[in-house]
Amino acid sequence: QGSEALLRLVGVSAGYGVEPVLRELDLTVGKGEIVALLGANGAGKSTVLRTISGVIPADSGDLSWEGEPLSGWPRHQAAASARRGIGHIPEGRGIFPDLTVKENLDLGSFAAPSRSVSPEDLERVLGYFPILGDRLGQLAGTLSGGEQQMLAIARALLSRPRLLMLDEPSLGLAPLISQQVFNMMRTIADSGVSILLVEQNARASLALADRAYVLSRGRVVLSGPADEVAANPSLTGSYLEVG
Ligand code: ATP
Repeated sequence: QGSEALLRLVGVSAGYGVEPVLRELDLTVGKGEIVALLGANGAGKSTVLRTISGVIPADSGDLSWEGEPLSGWPRHQAAASARRGIGHIPEGRGIFPDLTVKENLDLGSFAAPSRSVSPEDLERVLGYFPILGDRLGQLAGTLSGGEQQMLAIARALLSRPRLLMLDEPSLGLAPLISQQVFNMMRTIADSGVSILLVEQNARASLALADRAYVLSRGRVVLSGPADEVAANPSLTGSYLEVG
């Protein structure tokens, strides 16, 4: 990706205690690119997203965003990364089940705290997920799994991220619904938003992604264009639990 990289990690190590979970990780995401992050349970995929969004600090290595260091940011780096355009949808989606769809979306417009989402922004994100428009008054906890994922993505898009990081968006979704969510990711990327996607579903995410990284025990063991990674015989072996 050369100088075009939006996000660049070089030699990043991070974890939760004494033992590092990520070891000397190199990773880039280019503008408008979809990058898949694959690996077995516990490989460290979610930890990569948490390190990028600042939920946990890097122990060593360099993170840069549009050529500027990320690691030098002040405390509350998670809020800072969101302001700079990094949207993080954690596993489990992070929506508020006891609030309505509309109230959840209002919380997404945190660029203007305690304000309702503007009609223009609402229209923009509902354009991606029209079904949510019919359900604005419904409690988010009563949405289907797929609708909840759509709500989480719609809410993240309200802050106009330039990078959207999704952690296992297809988890618990029926295949047809997952496919809809995957198709929507392509549409979002085509609008210029980069996507970093953590997925257990290797096949579907490699079909969608431009490039992929395979993690094993916190290290990158395979990376490249998604079609080359998909064709690599070692992909189905020890690196992933599913082929
Ligand atoms: P999965 O697909 O199961 O979600 P993953 O590849 O996303 O796995 P991580 O969630 O990044 O993996 O976890 C990597 C390692 O870090 C695991 O050994 C996990 O037990 C450990 N870990 C994750 N979160 C924490 C935490 N908050 N405190 C301590 N250890 C953690």
